[in-house]
Amino acid sequence: MEIKTQILPPDQRRSLPSDKALGFGKIFTDHMLVMPYDAKQGWHEPEVRPYGPFSLDPAAMVLHYGQAIFEGLKAYRGQDDGIYLFRPLANLERMNRSATRMCMPTLPVETVFAGLKALLQIDADWVPPADNGASLYVRPTMVATEAGLGVRPAMEYLFFIILSPVGAYYPEGFNPVKIYVTDKYVRAVPGGVGEAKTAGNYAASIMAAVEAQQEGFTQVLWLDAKERRLVEEVGTMNIFFVFKDRIVTPPLSGTILPGITRDSVLRLLADWNLPVEERSITIDEVFAANERGELREVFGTGTAAVISPVGSLHYKGRDCLINRGKIGELALRLFNELTAIQYGRQADPHGWVVRL
Ligand code: PMP
Repeated sequence: MEIKTQILPPDQRRSLPSDKALGFGKIFTDHMLVMPYDAKQGWHEPEVRPYGPFSLDPAAMVLHYGQAIFEGLKAYRGQDDGIYLFRPLANLERMNRSATRMCMPTLPVETVFAGLKALLQIDADWVPPADNGASLYVRPTMVATEAGLGVRPAMEYLFFIILSPVGAYYPEGFNPVKIYVTDKYVRAVPGGVGEAKTAGNYAASIMAAVEAQQEGFTQVLWLDAKERRLVEEVGTMNIFFVFKDRIVTPPLSGTILPGITRDSVLRLLADWNLPVEERSITIDEVFAANERGELREVFGTGTAAVISPVGSLHYKGRDCLINRGKIGELALRLFNELTAIQYGRQADPHGWVVRL
């Protein structure tokens, strides 16, 4: 499919604000990729055009029944000034798995990837400089646009990609976070949509996050819905526990998001010959190991933070202080390795980065 382009004249283009103004997801670039779908034509007319609002029918099915999926990945400015994407096809493939689960049409991956590259070339000046940990966040999204109030799969959709320059995740340095383990709310149930990156999962998570933040915690750690004992994942991260003699992360059992950072960390740990297990783990096991002095580190993995060291876990009124609240050695090593690959500073034996 040919990708059409409609580009703003130079005098209407805006420029990248200073690092300090960036934050996360508040500023958007000059252009976006848009591609409609209908049952007759399938996906058609992919176009890069100026960023701006859509017009939607008030009966658009996404507004009522929530057929909405999205992805999140980053483009990095390398020291050679090139633009690097980290495992972009893994995100598009995950998006297609989300689409299938939500009865939405799958995307033509090749066309979308070509469209993303065209969009990034046009808005290349929006990829922040390499030296400060900033990057360009890429948000592919698909929503049901057909007007109608019957509950069924829509027959019309819109796919789009928007871009947002984001500041360093750790502007004041790589700091451990305080996490609240909730046994009051659950995120996903077996047979539900937990492994799909669908909007409703995030809507459902907000109340727990707000309550945790009111108590001074950064994020929520979810437990399984049935027994509320097995560790699942954090707000927007998968989780790893480093014990005296092994590293453990919960398995992809259908209720957690199969994180691309999680997968990359598992591969690096295997490269480094470290013993790692993907298995169910209870919150009691974590606390007990900490009491015995056998819990060395806990960290989250996700696109936004890459690696996020956890300084403490709060569960049922008890606090588990990890590694005296300091950054762990393994978390730091993984963070340095992954970011060096992402910014093109280091060899990439797994073929994870794509240079534009
Ligand atoms: N879990 C959830 C619920 C998330 O939203 C994310 C962020 N996409 C992750 C885990 C981490 O996934 P990834 O490493 O692909 O960013």
